Order: sequence, then structure tokens, then C-alpha cells
Amino acid sequence: MAVRVPLLLPDETLLWPVDAPPPTAVTGPAVDSYGRAINYLRISLTDACNLRCVYCMPEDMRFQPRSALLTDEEILTIARAAAELGTTKIRLTGGEPTIRPGLVELVRALARIPGIRELAMTTNGLLLAELAEPLAQAGLKRLNVSIDTLDPEKFRRITRWGDLCRVWDGIAAAEAAGLNPLKLNVVVVRGFNEDEVVPLARLSIERPWHIRFIELMPLGSVAEFQQGAVVPSHETRARIEAELGPLMPVPGHDLRDPARPYRLAGARGQIGFIDTITDPFCAGCNRYRLTADGKLRLCLLRDREVDLLTPLRNGCTFEELKALMRLAIWNKPWGHGLPEGDVPRARVMSQIGG
Ligand code: SAM
Ligand code: SF4
Repeated sequence: MAVRVPLLLPDETLLWPVDAPPPTAVTGPAVDSYGRAINYLRISLTDACNLRCVYCMPEDMRFQPRSALLTDEEILTIARAAAELGTTKIRLTGGEPTIRPGLVELVRALARIPGIRELAMTTNGLLLAELAEPLAQAGLKRLNVSIDTLDPEKFRRITRWGDLCRVWDGIAAAEAAGLNPLKLNVVVVRGFNEDEVVPLARLSIERPWHIRFIELMPLGSVAEFQQGAVVPSHETRARIEAELGPLMPVPGHDLRDPARPYRLAGARGQIGFIDTITDPFCAGCNRYRLTADGKLRLCLLRDREVDLLTPLRNGCTFEELKALMRLAIWNKPWGHGLPEGDVPRARVMSQIGG
């Protein structure tokens, strides 16, 4: 079959030049040119959010109009194409995914796509008290909830206005709905919450949760602030071990999971570190991302993207869409350019989804 879809790409500088087609493969699971099987798609359902976390976006962030975003039908078409290309896991993210209208029905439709074995979501938890049960009923399997501090005042400062009580209500609802094991994401930000990592890590002793400490990544207009506020994972780890004792590696973990898991003595849950800055995990990377405005982003920290929205709205066929996605995946880059000063500028984190 001839691969001719790049003709449908509009002429935009940020678009990845999908000019290096896979040498032979036009069937079977999609791989990239480094031999990595790319089978985990993160879908951003909206760039909008009900918070304004300081480490994620500027306070005066403006969001895209609805017409610029993928419709439910377009998301489902891309997800079906992804599944036919070997994608087995989808994570819904944002912005804040729970503010998208019709979310539960969209989850139900995504969960029914043949080949998608794991459907997960990352959320700030504010709306989970009402949504956790219907989402679980619709087929959502796992949840990551972002919670960067246990102190309500610090939480307000980090999120600019968030109410921590609502996140706790959401976490309780998620557990009651059986969305286990619950993972809690903590971005460690110098001057905001580096002293909160011990109480957060302590949660893993009593609760079966996975607490994941994430190094701050620089993106877009807030990159300068972010670069000045990175707390390296080794510092976070040392702080935790000084207070709570040694962290023991959990054997047999999935090498494609960027969080290297550890356990405190006697703990029910786990602790993980996502060291994107100090120890990138490119060799095990199996991810690609779909932005809410329909661009396929092959590396979180590289700005070049492939436009799927325009071909879809120009009437490309399902087979053409698949071929375009396969080419994009083939061209997935290796390694970010941060050490060379190449900071991704085109989007802030909320416009990608983490
Ligand atoms: N709104 C949802 C939430 O906060 O969980 C989903 C979207 S958010 C962009 C996805 C994840 O990215 C969250 O865990 C968030 O804490 C994390 N994040 C946001 N900005 C980040 C940054 N600059 N560096 C590292 N992680 C970041
Ligand atoms: Fe919103 Fe999540 Fe970004 Fe916070 S991290 S501003 S909750 S998208």
C-alpha cells in the first residue's frame, strides 16, 4: 500500500516533517525508527482547567474555543486508529479532563474500542466526588490524582485558588469506586512544596497508594520560573529517607513506567520518582500524545507535532489517518534537548497533558 497521507499536511512550521517513512512496515503494531513499540496514547480532552497551578501555566492563561478542539467523534476515530496500530493503553488528561462536557459517555465509548486494555485518567480531583463512580461504571480502570501538598494554604498558593478538601473528597470517591491502585502525582517545586515530600511519602505507609514525585519540567511561557524551581529527585529521595528510613526498590517493575518504584519498610503503598530532567527514560518510552486541538506530539519535550485535525476535517479516510499516525510514530524523536538549552516553547504543560 502506498503511503501518501503527508500530502494532507498543512504548511505549518511546527509540524513534524513526516518525510522518513518506515522502510517496510505498513501493517502490524507501530514502532519508531529506534525499534521502540509505541503503544500508549495520552489524549488531552481540553486545554482548559478549573485551577491555575503556578508550575503549569500563567495566571492569565487563555483557553482555545470549542471549535478548535477535537469533537468526541474525532477523538474516537483517532483512538480506533491508534488501537489498530497496536495501542493498548489510553490515558485521558488535560487541562482538566473532568471539565469536558459528556466525559462519561466518551469514556464509555473509548472503553469499548477493541484492543484498548487499559483506560486511565490524570485529574486534579476537584470534580471526582461526583464523577468517580460514573467513570468507573463507564469503564475507566485507573486514576492518577495530582496533589502537591497536604497543607490547605500551600495548596491554595500552588494552585492559585484550589480547595484541598475537595481533592480529598475526590480521592475517597475514587477509592470507593474501586479505581485502585490510586496513584498520587506530586510535582516538587522549590519554594512551594519541597518540605511537603515527607508527609506525602508517609501516606504510602498506611494507604496502598503509589506516591509519585515528579521533577518540574520547563515548557512555554513559564519555562524561566520552572527552570529556577527544579528540585532534583535525588534531593527529594534523600529528604524522605532521612525522615522515614531507607527506600527499598520494588522488584519486577515495568521498565516502560517512568516512575521507578520503591517501598518504605512495612508500607502498604509505593513511592516513585519521575526524573525526566536528571535521568531521562527515553529508552523505555512507549508514549505518544494527542493534544486537545488534534496534534500528535511524539515527545513531551519536543515542539514538533503532526496535525491530525486538518486531515480529519478535510475528509481523509480511516486508512489515510492510520498511515499518517504510523509515519508520525516512526519519526518519534529520541531524547530531549534541555541540556543543549533547547526548551520547548510552543505550549505550556496544560496544553499537552503531561
Ligand atoms: N489537570 C490534571 C492534573 O493536574 O492532574 C491533568 C493535566 S496535568 C498537565 C498532568 C500532570 O502534569 C499533573 O500531574 C501535573 O501535576 C503535571 N505537571 C504540570 N505541569 C508540570 C511541569 N511543568 N512539570 C512536571 N509536571 C507537570
Ligand atoms: Fe490544571 Fe492540571 Fe495544570 Fe494544575 S497541573 S493547572 S490542575 S492542568
